[in-house]
Amino acid sequence: MARFSFLDKLLIPTVNDRDQITTGEVVFDLDKCSSCSLCVEACPADTLLFVEKKPQLKTGVANECMACGDCVAICPEAAIRLTRSYQFSKFYRTVDQGALSAPRLFEDD
Ligand code: SF4
Ligand code: SF4
Repeated sequence: MARFSFLDKLLIPTVNDRDQITTGEVVFDLDKCSSCSLCVEACPADTLLFVEKKPQLKTGVANECMACGDCVAICPEAAIRLTRSYQFSKFYRTVDQGALSAPRLFEDD
């Protein structure tokens, strides 16, 4: 089994250090939104709020979006778009940041 070098150990990010990560971000098309609240209930990071019958992403340090795409996948109105992926910042190594995409695409897309 391969061993980590000293440099490798320095480059391993700490997932709960907010200085070492960039959280994900979603954008809502509120004209399309039917206020079903499914996205808020589905979010595994509990980072969506339902305010005045419309969803919104928590801001600042409360934003813990990991860009999983679950809200995008569950929205019946296709009213949510992922705009920024969760990634480690600065000099930390990543396996693959890839392109943003929903985990399950709609039939019509
Ligand atoms: S992409 Fe995932 S973590 Fe981010 S708001 Fe949507 S469901 Fe929550
Ligand atoms: S799942 Fe879609 S339609 Fe339902 S509240 Fe969220 S954005 Fe609005």
